[in-house]
Amino acid sequence: MALDRIDLADIHAPERLAARLHAQLGPVTTAVPVVEIARGLDISEVRIDRFDGFEGMLLTDRVRSDGVILANCRYGHQRARFTIAHELGHFLLERHEVSSETGFRCTPRDMRETREGRRELRQEAEANRFAIELLAPPAMFDRHLSRDPDLQDAQHLRRALDLSREACIRRMVERRDEPLAAIWSQEGRVRYSIRGDAFPYLALNKNDPLPKISQAFKVVSKGDRGITTFRETHAAAWTRRPEIEMFEQTRVGRDGHAVTLLWADLPPDADEEDDGGLPELGAPGFR
Ligand SMILES: [Zn+2]
Repeated sequence: MALDRIDLADIHAPERLAARLHAQLGPVTTAVPVVEIARGLDISEVRIDRFDGFEGMLLTDRVRSDGVILANCRYGHQRARFTIAHELGHFLLERHEVSSETGFRCTPRDMRETREGRRELRQEAEANRFAIELLAPPAMFDRHLSRDPDLQDAQHLRRALDLSREACIRRMVERRDEPLAAIWSQEGRVRYSIRGDAFPYLALNKNDPLPKISQAFKVVSKGDRGITTFRETHAAAWTRRPEIEMFEQTRVGRDGHAVTLLWADLPPDADEEDDGGLPELGAPGFR
């Protein structure tokens, strides 16, 4: 694949970098060929294997003359694709400083870092931003979205983009206009959660049990695999805003894993309302 790395130089915003790369690629009709793209941009080797102790690694030098990417497929090939895109982000985002003498070494947690505080965190957040914009650009993603939010969309997206369900749901929360949040749980306990900008503060922490008055608690306790329809729920189960209308939908998967999508029906000006300066509790704080 012939790609022009010079054309991508000096772009420090991950969204712009991914958009420029897509402009070089032209229309993509299959899942984004991330390995071929990496090889076309001076990555001499992409090794996908079951590794211990890290999710992804980029072996390179400070000036990035070339690189080797290692991606862990222990959690599936779709996650490995995201990891390759993340490492390619570190490679192309020239301001990213190597984390060791041999390059970058990234953990599963790094793969969903969204904070922008310290440099190390910001680099991980930017690599993730680049990865999702590369693998699920708006033009390829949005056309799979139904009129209303629906976890079923993640099934189609997963196949079309060859991306993990988790990454598709995160992207859905981000791309849709409705105030949405998603909570991943295992054996009835919260693993982590994310919320869109307009969704109220989520009063949940990692390892908290799913709220007993939620629909999610009921379906997870029953343990039948599948996707529920959206049903009205008590906003007080999930937030400190008992007065708002809220709906939830849950997908129960294998091994006690579940994901719940929340949809808040906010009164007209509510998105302008100050939520009292409560601390930000996005995905990362839950680990
Ligand atoms: Zn990283």
